[in-house]
Amino acid sequence: MKVAVIGAGIVGSLIAREFTKYEIDVEVFEKLPDVGWGITKANSGILHAGYDDEPGTLRAKYCAKGNEMYDRLSKDLNFELKRIGSLVLAFSEEELNILKELEKRGKDNGVKGLKILNRIESLEVEPNLSREVISALYAPSAGIIAPWEAAQAAIENAVENGAMLHLSTEIKNISNENNQYVLDTSNGEFQFDMVINAAGLWADDLAEKTGVKVSPLHPRRGEYILLDQPGVVRTVIFPTPSEAGKGILVLPTVHDTVLLGPTSQDLPPTQKESTKTTFDGLSKIVKSAQKLVPAVNISKTIRTFAGLRPENDIKDFVLKREGNMMHVVATRSPGLSSAPAIAKDIVNDMLGDLEIKKRSDFNPHRAPLVKVIEMSDKERENIIAKNPSYGRVICRCNHVTEGEVVDAIRHGARTLDGIKFRTTAMFGRCQGSFCTVKIMKIMKRELGKNYEEIRKNLPNSQIVDGDVR
Ligand SMILES: Cc1cc2nc3c(=O)[nH]c(=O)nc-3n(C[C@H](O)[C@H](O)[C@H](O)COP(=O)(O)OP(=O)(O)OC[C@H]3O[C@@H](n4cnc5c(N)ncnc54)[C@H](O)[C@@H]3O)c2cc1C
Repeated sequence: MKVAVIGAGIVGSLIAREFTKYEIDVEVFEKLPDVGWGITKANSGILHAGYDDEPGTLRAKYCAKGNEMYDRLSKDLNFELKRIGSLVLAFSEEELNILKELEKRGKDNGVKGLKILNRIESLEVEPNLSREVISALYAPSAGIIAPWEAAQAAIENAVENGAMLHLSTEIKNISNENNQYVLDTSNGEFQFDMVINAAGLWADDLAEKTGVKVSPLHPRRGEYILLDQPGVVRTVIFPTPSEAGKGILVLPTVHDTVLLGPTSQDLPPTQKESTKTTFDGLSKIVKSAQKLVPAVNISKTIRTFAGLRPENDIKDFVLKREGNMMHVVATRSPGLSSAPAIAKDIVNDMLGDLEIKKRSDFNPHRAPLVKVIEMSDKERENIIAKNPSYGRVICRCNHVTEGEVVDAIRHGARTLDGIKFRTTAMFGRCQGSFCTVKIMKIMKRELGKNYEEIRKNLPNSQIVDGDVR
């Protein structure tokens, strides 16, 4: 049995890993040069508690369940998860009534520990909240992760368990000949018994190529501002949600920066790559974030960026099976939170009637990447004694060492962003002004590349023309 998974975002990565628990061949196809660079790269990174989703929707079915599954995943795959909890703020009696509805909906969806706090209790949890707040819905099970890290870890583990990863390989067409799916890719033709379409913003186009109709996707852009203001909030802070969605939030990241956003702007289906930020969007973020947390200091901005949600007209995920092909479409929010539960259900559904054995030698663990900054003095001393490159700091903002950059390359990083998203070098307040050249020197040495061959991310993102001196 041969299975292809199209797309190495959080959804495809977890599906691929789930398949490797069985005695089958698994191959993953990703059109970008690295894992987790689609929708999974630019979002809020929240494991939503699950009170927001109307009962009866797939979002409600999978969110709280998927959220819970992340505890095991983060331990097995060694990626960071912080269960920091969330607060939805009410500034009026009308908003408080909405919080009560959310609390009830959350209980129906199986969310544990929800509690409505009064003003004093809310300020105790989060001292920098606006003094205008009258109440808040507290959800202790909300958490934060770096979503791309979870996807990378899942794929690495899938590969350790025998999966094959084809990066920079775009699926151009899919046909069915004699019960075999033929994938026509940018790197040749491949045949499979089963295919999972987890292509994010392009999942509707791929479904269409196989003659399957799903409601079309359009991107909904969410702009963000990233701040270097650690400690300004400790939990995820939401406004009361409205028709337009969950609103603009203030939250810490797992890297101790602070995220403001996202906006919510519908774009036409032709703009599935439009990740620019706008003056209007950023101004709106500042106003909305400071309404929740007046202490938010915009002069601490590190960078701005935008992500694209794959939206459809039914505002819900679509899981559509046709023969031995499953289409996972409209993986909008809370798709990150829901992904582990979706992955499990899809693999159970696809393999349900077949007599395929579970592998006895499946290894659920991925070894952690070395993080020198998180070590005790003794551990640091020992690792530097064994390998002095762990003592040479390359990124001053996030204290990343040469040894960690080399590790990232050994874990598959081939571009500057590949290193950034594995080590957090270039992620800090100087955004790579200090370390980019040092990292390029290490890449040149380790990968045997010339400087002009080094890319920031995509093939057209060359950094320099060559050596100057
Ligand atoms: C602004 C914003 C905020 C969000 N916040 C949250 C949140 O806080 N919590 C939450 O739970 N969810 C959140 N979400 C939703 C969450 O980010 C998504 O549900 C999730 O990342 C979707 O993952 P995916 O694997 O389906 O898509 P992707 O990550 O896009 O993966 C699909 C992959 O398929 C590849 N691909 C596409 N076409 C092809 C092809 N033809 N051949 C080969 N490869 C192909 C793409 O390159 C891509 O890497 C947010 C989304 C956005 C945009």
